[in-house]
Amino acid sequence: MAVALFSVFNSAFAVNPPDSTPIGAKTYAATPVKVTDCTPYGGDPNQDGICAHWKDGTYGPGLHVNFNDSSIGGVTVHYRYDLPCTPGNTLANDPTGYTVCPSTSQKDIYLELDCMTGQCPQPQAIYDVVSAFNAHGIHLHVQMGENASSGSGDIGVHFCDVKRVTTNYDSAGDVCTSTTTNYQSYPDLKQNFFGTVDERAGNTSLCPLNGVPPGYSPSNANSFNCLTAKRQVFHYGMFVDYQISGSDSAGWAEVFGNDLIISLGGFTNGVGSLDEQEGTLMHELGHNLALNHGGVNDANNCKPNYLSVMNYVYMFQESADSCRPLDYSNTALSNLNEGSLSDSNIGSYPYPSGSSCQGERKIFWSSPTGTTLSGTTGVTDDWDNNGIDSNTYSQVLNNVGSSCSASTTPITLTGFNDWAFLANGNSALGFPEPLNFRTSTNFYQTVLPASGLDSDVYTQGDNHEDFPLLHVQSVLVKNQTNGSGQGTGPGNQTNGSGQGTGQVNGEQYTDSDNPYGPLQMIGWGGGLVVAGILTGIGVWTAVRRR
Ligand SMILES: [Zn+2]
Repeated sequence: MAVALFSVFNSAFAVNPPDSTPIGAKTYAATPVKVTDCTPYGGDPNQDGICAHWKDGTYGPGLHVNFNDSSIGGVTVHYRYDLPCTPGNTLANDPTGYTVCPSTSQKDIYLELDCMTGQCPQPQAIYDVVSAFNAHGIHLHVQMGENASSGSGDIGVHFCDVKRVTTNYDSAGDVCTSTTTNYQSYPDLKQNFFGTVDERAGNTSLCPLNGVPPGYSPSNANSFNCLTAKRQVFHYGMFVDYQISGSDSAGWAEVFGNDLIISLGGFTNGVGSLDEQEGTLMHELGHNLALNHGGVNDANNCKPNYLSVMNYVYMFQESADSCRPLDYSNTALSNLNEGSLSDSNIGSYPYPSGSSCQGERKIFWSSPTGTTLSGTTGVTDDWDNNGIDSNTYSQVLNNVGSSCSASTTPITLTGFNDWAFLANGNSALGFPEPLNFRTSTNFYQTVLPASGLDSDVYTQGDNHEDFPLLHVQSVLVKNQTNGSGQGTGPGNQTNGSGQGTGQVNGEQYTDSDNPYGPLQMIGWGGGLVVAGILTGIGVWTAVRRR
């Protein structure tokens, strides 16, 4: 079992003064006006926040961004930044989508991704998320944000912990241990690493100098132009090691905003498996697009009628359903009124074609006794595990793990169609344009030095930190096959032969089906023990460093 310990590289910060005195090249966001209105630029016909003229060739091929800054010298000035693309490129040429040109015929999302040394994601994780969006008509363009031409997002420095609030960083530590106080704040990281190396340096070929007003001479005008304009379009994310809050936290993101963190230091091999990397990336990006754990404006997690990577049950394949597609929900399944529940069919939601599993998707819920039950969509589910009948009963359904934070009193669990929301927005829910983060107060936050970089504005607004359901042993174990792959029968399989009946009513499990004891949450506090058990059945080889 490898234990990864990372050295700390302070060189990237050694040249920078403390954040209270940002250097010239890093003052790009130091203006109170940060939202560019699309009205002078052809409006926003795609409702993705990217003005029409920024995409339609008005300024030439590719993506262009105007930035309207009325705060400099009392005059209104326009900056413009040209983002390169390669006409004719598709995901076949560039599976990151970064060099695929934007179009006014569909929605575009831009994301700059950086990573701490040792924490960089597998390229396939990026490709898979881009592909998931592309399948629903949204072009996601991911730029690995240090050296874009080589596809590297490595910032050349590693910190053990990331704080979300601004705090002076501590460079004393050189290894990551349980007592290490070697942390950096996300605002500082964005302050230092948003933009590519070339963009931050004001490379004139990448950042043509446009619109600097007479009498105003920013110390690095190109960088100022480049990065201020880029902020109008790009989400920013970083793969880091741990968050200061602990090793169970996989990520953090603004709910309707432009900032996100993936922190998989406590997960597989200290960097996350492919499934964990892509699941967390798509989950956190989903938060930026206004999705919560139960849909929009709905924090109810682990709902059996919400089959989305936003739902902790479906964030990782290893959490519950080894066949779960990397996807947001594409169907609003029927509501479930827990206070007046009856055995019911919430609707059909088959696995997508090409999935390793076919037929109706697997769902999970909590029984009256607190165990976890399993069934599928498209059939009448026996929520109370009492045999299919017409009784009406009250039952909490989404308490399948402590991180679900399920309501202890019955509520109505609503279905929600994420992709329909992202395609059309929903004014009634308060998000007419969920892709336009520039209308969010979260856009003003992070690298927001109006009142000083050390303020804690970063924690204001709606945001969320994720503690996914990785450790629900009961669910995890129930879905393991005995090594021969997914079963063809209507229900789940037990972990091996001779482990009880395995099926109830053809589709559900009870306690007796679990060869590893009662169905209950296994805390991560016993991480190595749990990992050892799971490694023994060949499903998980998580390594903890603390
Ligand atoms: Zn979340």
